[in-house]
Amino acid sequence: MTELSNGNTKVHIPSDNQLRNLSRVTAILCGNWRASLLAHSLWEFHNYQLYCTVRADDGRANRHRIDGITGPQTFDKIRIYVSIRKNERQEEGLVHELLHANLIPLGYPRFWIHDHGESEKFTLAGGIINLADHIPMLRAYLSLGYFAGRFLGPSRPLNKREARVDRDLQQIADKLTTPDGYLTQISAYLSSYNIRYEPIYLAEIVVKQRSESATGTTRKGPD
Ligand SMILES: [Zn+2]
Repeated sequence: MTELSNGNTKVHIPSDNQLRNLSRVTAILCGNWRASLLAHSLWEFHNYQLYCTVRADDGRANRHRIDGITGPQTFDKIRIYVSIRKNERQEEGLVHELLHANLIPLGYPRFWIHDHGESEKFTLAGGIINLADHIPMLRAYLSLGYFAGRFLGPSRPLNKREARVDRDLQQIADKLTTPDGYLTQISAYLSSYNIRYEPIYLAEIVVKQRSESATGTTRKGPD
């Protein structure tokens, strides 16, 4: 990211690579102006750190990843990576992954899980958070004009425990549609599985990183 300083105005300029990533996303969403607008604002919100890869359809699930969280209170530059499969559901697949990332500016907490990445609890926590995210995401997805039946791609059937989590979360679905309700409910739910966690509010971090990169290089212009 380059920054131009013009007097007291600070202008951030995205790199060519960041612009290419935005074009890749908006080209897929060009048939839906609301989804394009969402992608554009998300890209700007994340300081242009939103990267998208379109892979050949190998039957594997689409993904999104948040990079830059190094601990519950330590952060590198926050970057969002979305990887989707090139298939007939790629538009909905992309919107789905973007809506996960969109929970950040909406003020939903993310969770740091106090366990190592290969542990059963870590996997379970990831599954709970993923299923919990889908509840507020689905409402946004429908409001963009997409069909509920294409919100999820074909995936393996849920195992017994995942099915139970899904059922439990559906019962508290209404309470998950606000950031505060989501925090209260998911915190309690993680605790019920003895999962140790810390909520992280990434929106604050992303905004702080923007202003940090803005200070220091700003020069005052002539009065
Ligand atoms: Zn998902």
